[in-house]
Amino acid sequence: MPKKRVRINIKGAVQGVGFRPFIFNLAQKLNLKGFVSNNPVGVLIEAEGEKKPLEEFIKVIPRKCPAASKITAIDCKYLKGVGYGEFVIKVSGRKSEKSVLVLPDIATCPQCLKEIFDKNNIRYLYPFTNCTLCGPRFSIIEKLPYDRKNTSMKTFKMCGDCREEYDNPRDRRFHAQPNACHACGPQLCLIDEKGKPLAFKDEALKLCIQAIKQGKIIALKGLGGFQIIVDAKNERSVRALRERKHREEKPFALMFPDIESVRKFCRVSSTEEKLLNSAEAPIVILEKLAIKKDFYQPIAPGNPCLGVMLPYTPLHHILMRNLKIPIVATSGNLSDEVICYEDDEALQRLKGIADLFLIHDRRIVRHVDDSIVRVVNSKAMVLRRSRGFAPLGIQIKNEIPGILAVGAHLKNTFAVNIKNHVFISQHIGDLETKQTFEVYKQTIAAFKDLYRPKIEAVACDMHPNYLSSRFAQEEGKHLIKIQHHHAHIVSCMAENKLNEEVLGIAWDGTGLGEKEEIWGGEFLSANLKDFKRVGCFRPFALPGGELAVKEPIRSALSLLFEVFKDKAVTLNLPFLKSINPNLARFIIEMLKKDINSPRTTSVGRLFDGVSALIGLSKRSFFEGQPAIMLEHAIEGHKSNSFYPFQIRDRIFGSQKIYEADWEGLIKGIIADLRKKRPVKLISVKFHNTLVEIAVKIAGLINMKKIVLSGGCFQNKYLTERLVKRLKVEGFSVYCHKEVPPNDGGISLGQLVCAANRLRD
Ligand code: ZN
Ligand code: ZN
Ligand code: FE
Repeated sequence: MPKKRVRINIKGAVQGVGFRPFIFNLAQKLNLKGFVSNNPVGVLIEAEGEKKPLEEFIKVIPRKCPAASKITAIDCKYLKGVGYGEFVIKVSGRKSEKSVLVLPDIATCPQCLKEIFDKNNIRYLYPFTNCTLCGPRFSIIEKLPYDRKNTSMKTFKMCGDCREEYDNPRDRRFHAQPNACHACGPQLCLIDEKGKPLAFKDEALKLCIQAIKQGKIIALKGLGGFQIIVDAKNERSVRALRERKHREEKPFALMFPDIESVRKFCRVSSTEEKLLNSAEAPIVILEKLAIKKDFYQPIAPGNPCLGVMLPYTPLHHILMRNLKIPIVATSGNLSDEVICYEDDEALQRLKGIADLFLIHDRRIVRHVDDSIVRVVNSKAMVLRRSRGFAPLGIQIKNEIPGILAVGAHLKNTFAVNIKNHVFISQHIGDLETKQTFEVYKQTIAAFKDLYRPKIEAVACDMHPNYLSSRFAQEEGKHLIKIQHHHAHIVSCMAENKLNEEVLGIAWDGTGLGEKEEIWGGEFLSANLKDFKRVGCFRPFALPGGELAVKEPIRSALSLLFEVFKDKAVTLNLPFLKSINPNLARFIIEMLKKDINSPRTTSVGRLFDGVSALIGLSKRSFFEGQPAIMLEHAIEGHKSNSFYPFQIRDRIFGSQKIYEADWEGLIKGIIADLRKKRPVKLISVKFHNTLVEIAVKIAGLINMKKIVLSGGCFQNKYLTERLVKRLKVEGFSVYCHKEVPPNDGGISLGQLVCAANRLRD
């Protein structure tokens, strides 16, 4: 029987993850001849053999391919046989054959883990063990293509053993660029805060473990930057860390030794367990067990959830196996700055925070924070997209012109594209400090260097005072301004591969809207290019502007003033008794005279106001804290009741749009407060009211597809209930998955929107 030959083109992130050895071994097993080679979009395979094994080959590839690879397309073509004699991995080393897809850093794989704890293995307790399936990628690459000489591993010359593995296509370290061992690779060093070395290698680790047990605060040079670690149970040390970091109440993330120890404190669903153990190994937001509610209070004050991760590098694994206790593992920075990643910089910036520094001599090329994921509607929703995800792109349907999208102001990321691949940067942070803005500019420069995109236009937010918008202006390219909430919706559309007209529900803190109005509770009839505002919330004032974000009592007073005018301060409410009467009167005066009190339709600020009104939150120590407290106040309480509300017509510009009036909601809450109804009931009813408002307006507008975006949809209760209710009403609902619903997702939306505008 004549042999058949098949040519298989595989597109996606398939280089540098052990894909070719996988194909090689599979071909060997099925007795196929031919070759596998890299090409710029992925790999090319030609295989020749009997029909049955060939079909098996094609079937098995997508099912059994390496965990860290991401296949975006497989294309097969049968051809006449040419009589290959063997199966080979073709290595031509030509630059043009390397992919532009840089892979993210990947958590230690099970095989490497086994070796690290195998006394007879040459990598026993070696903290920098890796293979083609795992280890650093994005955090060590200096330029493309991804070869050792283009990474920070270039300064380490492989020993004979490592070299042999690297050259052998049957070895699982074949072309593992950061391959290393005790003899030839990076080593640990423990230094004091002056930079004086105290110990090296095993000894450094031993001293570090001792220090942690004694309650010392350690700066640990991790994968994408410095982490600050401390014994999570040592309250005194945890409090000291809060003080030193100027981080009052924002939760710290925890690293547990293993999944069993996580289960002792948190509820873990199978989806959550998979995430914890995944190649991305993010921080997963987990609910504490009811009986452990009071545990780890200083870690996440007043919070029923914990941000939990498992060890994801050999160094973490070795450390945690020795410690056997959960540790705080928070980013090595002063609050609001970008995480440190260079040794000298860490010594300078973390001085006074860390007692000791556990460092090593493998340079971190760029900062990559730990990612954060929450399971919403039984699906993973990325809230901070960094290590494990960045810089993997989002593939969009059509080829588009090159755009640089500079992102928003808070939780900034930016994005560039090559053809239809959009590469979203790692999480940069809030562009508030000079330090963050510097890193922002450097990271954009580094991305341009890495990908060499042909940028035809720059997309930015409409807000003229965002540092990102100003930066965009200085680029001197064709500038395209995208409305903040439209960018949110397009981001979610792009991720869900939608390109028709949808109803976008964009609820967040704030973003500049049209006609100088501050938006944040928007209903947009949108496509990838344009939008029309079709609904919003009733606006209210923010006395003191930005200050209202930090002091939610201002939003609360404003809501009361809107409803009760002068009588607002005379209401018999515990909330009013808890604040300084002079301050309350002063704020009411501001509102009356309309001094520095911009009006907003923001749902985020409505959350703030209600959170303060019912006595949950007086001051916000981090973005979204009052809203988070309000969500958590539900405490699993179940109820379908909601407060009264009204949908009215509002004239906005020359159009008639819907306006959701929350007056009945505020009055209802006050009535419940007077009746001393429990906070959990008020909170559920508040959330339910927002859901019913959205359902009502969706029904009036009546578009089949509904897209949810904006920071408010990080709220699990709100999102789950809204999705469920809209589905019951017959709508198709789309949420974020891999791209954050918060402003971290704005850059993708800006890019796709700008590209669509540029096209015609
Ligand atoms: Zn491995
Ligand atoms: Zn070696
Ligand atoms: Fe936003």
